[in-house]
Amino acid sequence: MLRGMKNLSWQTSQGSRIVRVGVVRSACYAVETGDGRRYLIDTAVPGERAAIEAQLERLGFKALDAILLTHAHGDHAGNAAAWSRRFGCPVYAPAGEVGQVRAGRCVLPAGATPLGAAVMAVQRRLHVCETFEPVPDVRPLPLGEGVFGPHLGVVATPGHTECSASIVVDGEAALVGDALIHRGRSVFPPFADRPEQVGDAWRVLLGTGAETFLCAHGGPVGRALLERSLAALERPGRRPRA
Ligand SMILES: [Zn+2]
Repeated sequence: MLRGMKNLSWQTSQGSRIVRVGVVRSACYAVETGDGRRYLIDTAVPGERAAIEAQLERLGFKALDAILLTHAHGDHAGNAAAWSRRFGCPVYAPAGEVGQVRAGRCVLPAGATPLGAAVMAVQRRLHVCETFEPVPDVRPLPLGEGVFGPHLGVVATPGHTECSASIVVDGEAALVGDALIHRGRSVFPPFADRPEQVGDAWRVLLGTGAETFLCAHGGPVGRALLERSLAALERPGRRPRA
């Protein structure tokens, strides 16, 4: 049973701890697994670098075993190169997006909802989050259970981007990147390269057995809300909420 505290930290029954860090533009998650390994899931944007470094310092995170990126967007990969150097660790990104992380350049998705389309039109015009410091030696993120020790698994959850992945901790919590974006009662990502695959990704996430799904944008999503959202998405003629 996962225990959550103030929507900022969680503890699994297997002794793994997850802490949400950096919440202005985009959250990332510090994970200490039950066997003492330390990971950072996503890296936010350079503007949040100092604040997140201070948070990690307070948590006692002086070194990392690896940085895992859920996808190649600039608001997730923005500090990957800097923190790979600082924490002396490798960076992993979904295999199909390694080229973008290596180049430090991503293609932002189109809007999947009317609001998303409007926001993304502005972002694209301003080139927000399209470029970031390249990570020349980024490695492909392996998929499967226990790929980073007994506590961490990785599942493919494409939709927001073609190769987005989610990190599963002890089968109790999933760190989903932008596979879910939690705004109000909606969890459908307003921007997506493959909006038609988002429902499949949600099915994969529910299939992990996780009780809580932790997003980069917005608060945690419980199983019941994700199940309701998937049912609504699958209702004939129903379109995602904007
Ligand atoms: Zn994204």
